Amino acid sequence: MSHAAHLAHKAAHAIRQTVLEKHNYQCKCCGKKEGEGGERLQLHHVKPVSLGGWSDKDNLIPLCQACHTRVHKEWARNIPLPEDIIHG
Ligand SMILES: [Zn+2]
Ligand SMILES: [Zn+2]
Repeated sequence: MSHAAHLAHKAAHAIRQTVLEKHNYQCKCCGKKEGEGGERLQLHHVKPVSLGGWSDKDNLIPLCQACHTRVHKEWARNIPLPEDIIHG
């Protein structure tokens, strides 16, 4: 791993911790806990990167794998989603 890639990896890890902490290590959608049943929560961009969203703690929420997959599918099918989990 190059030095730059290593730093980016460290930064991503730190952001993940910050976001999880901010949301009590729970899926923002169903409330599933980090580590529950081996779950590893994923970070989801509230405002899509393609629309100018940034990968920072204020634009990221934790979602469990099932909810994350669902959010992306529903977005793709134009099903209205709650304000705070809208994504593109
Ligand atoms: Zn969930
Ligand atoms: Zn997402």
